[in-house]
Amino acid sequence: MSSSDAPAEAPFPLEETGAWGHYDLHCHCGAVRYTMKMSPPLFEEESQGKGVWKVNECDCSWCERNGSLAVHPLEENVTWTRGVEHLSKYSFGNKNVEHLFCSKCGSFVGSDSGAMFKKMGSAPRTVVNVRMLKDFDRKKLTIKRVEFMKQMPPKYSIDD
Ligand SMILES: [Zn+2]
Ligand SMILES: [Zn+2]
Repeated sequence: MSSSDAPAEAPFPLEETGAWGHYDLHCHCGAVRYTMKMSPPLFEEESQGKGVWKVNECDCSWCERNGSLAVHPLEENVTWTRGVEHLSKYSFGNKNVEHLFCSKCGSFVGSDSGAMFKKMGSAPRTVVNVRMLKDFDRKKLTIKRVEFMKQMPPKYSIDD
C-alpha cells in the first residue's frame, strides 16, 4: 500500500487519556467568550505524560485564508459563555459547516460542525480556533499540518 492510499489520520484523538485541560477563549474584542475542555489536553504540562492533542493546521480554503489553527472537541465540551448574539455565520461549498466569527471584531472563533459529524454517524463536535485561547502561544502547541482538505470537493473558486 503506497502512502497515498493510507487512510488519513483522524483530525482529533479517538481516545480520552484521562488527563484533561480546561481553557478560556475569546475573540479579539472580547465580546464573544467561551470555554472548552479536552482530553488529551493541549499542553505537555497537563498531559501526565499521556500525550497532547495535536492542533490541525488545515489546508482547506477557509483555514488557509483565516490562518486557523483548529481542534475538534466534543460539542458538549464547548460552552459559549458570553456574546453569542454577536456571532455571525458563514457557510460555503456543501454548506455542512457554519463558520462563526465575531461581528464586532471579525475574529474567526470556530465552526458549528455538529450536523456534519452527525451525518457521518459520530458524536457531534465543534471546531474551535485555538488562536482565540486567552493566552495563545503558538510555541506551546503541538501542530500537525493537515494536507488533504484541499483535494476534497467541491473545488474552491471564486467566479466573476
Ligand atoms: Zn470580537
Ligand atoms: Zn480547514
